[in-house]
Amino acid sequence: MYAFESYHRAQSLTEAVELLAANPFARPMAGGTDILVRLREGHKDYAKIVDIHGLPELEGITEDRGELRIGSGTTFAVLMASPLAARLAPVLIEAAGWVAGPQIRNTATIGGNICNGSACADSAAPLLILNAHLDLIGPEGKRMIPLRGFHLGPGRVELRQGEILRSVRVKPEPGQGQGLGTAYVKYSMRQAMDIATIGCGAGVRLRDGRPDGIVDELRLAFTVAAPTPVRCPSAEAAAMGLPLNEAIQAAVAALEQDVSPRTSWRAAGDFRMHIIRTLAGRMIRTAAERFAMHVAKHVAK
Ligand SMILES: Cc1cc2nc3c(=O)[nH]c(=O)nc-3n(C[C@H](O)[C@H](O)[C@H](O)COP(=O)(O)OP(=O)(O)OC[C@H]3O[C@@H](n4cnc5c(N)ncnc54)[C@H](O)[C@@H]3O)c2cc1C
Repeated sequence: MYAFESYHRAQSLTEAVELLAANPFARPMAGGTDILVRLREGHKDYAKIVDIHGLPELEGITEDRGELRIGSGTTFAVLMASPLAARLAPVLIEAAGWVAGPQIRNTATIGGNICNGSACADSAAPLLILNAHLDLIGPEGKRMIPLRGFHLGPGRVELRQGEILRSVRVKPEPGQGQGLGTAYVKYSMRQAMDIATIGCGAGVRLRDGRPDGIVDELRLAFTVAAPTPVRCPSAEAAAMGLPLNEAIQAAVAALEQDVSPRTSWRAAGDFRMHIIRTLAGRMIRTAAERFAMHVAKHVAK
């Protein structure tokens, strides 16, 4: 175990930003489920800590004119219990259910899941298909940036010195939330307490709401399929304007241009590619079925 060199518990978000600005080597700690493991492994990078756990400014799940705001300090357990998040971003709730087990979900935050820069973060694929934005605050002020592009490489994210993620925003768009059929699944060696071998999220809109209808929009994202979580622009473009079955075939065929799965002790690259293709097909179909079901219910009303 590498001991803390310094530990400050911030009393407010302003104080946290000041503490981080004053000490360029300090890192914010939310739930600590990543940081404490790193420290135990002897990583010096996390020896100086500014504890932001429980800051009221980072809590809460709210809606403002259709936009969902999730405080970065929200744990996955709290997220899963939120009817608001379930209504506006059901795919995120589905993904949260895949994170670790209940004990970790009681502590692990969505902010830590995004800011750890991990290619296997379970919130990344659903947030990418929801076109999520990140609300950041730091010594130089506030800024709002898209999640797409935030992950720079393994363990590296687009956070400036001293910056803290305040909240994750899912903006209202035509067809988003229940209007866009969505689905997420994680393939891992065990069903719980295991990180993803591959995670896949899909969002689909069909032209006339029929289960076999024309694909008007496809959003597809993966974890662990590349050094960072990725959207799949080639697969998405290939599916456009085709009936569902053909769209799935075209998207799957185009996937190789979007992903670059690696070989590790967990899985060989070609096995990962097989899983990527299989999950893409399944998730696109599931998302399409959910879209059609939603339209059918809406029409029945
Ligand atoms: C046993 C176990 C199982 C796990 N299983 C999974 C799993 O199935 N799926 C999965 O995705 N993850 C899993 N994890 C990883 C981890 O639990 C999650 O990534 C979690 O969401 C991290 O959140 P945290 O609040 O604990 O982060 P912390 O450990 O507090 O921080 C992680 C990183 O994010 C930074 N950070 C945290 N909050 C902010 C903020 N608001 N602004 C700026 N930077 C910030 C920290 O400085 C640090 O670099 C597992 C971990 C363990 C120990």
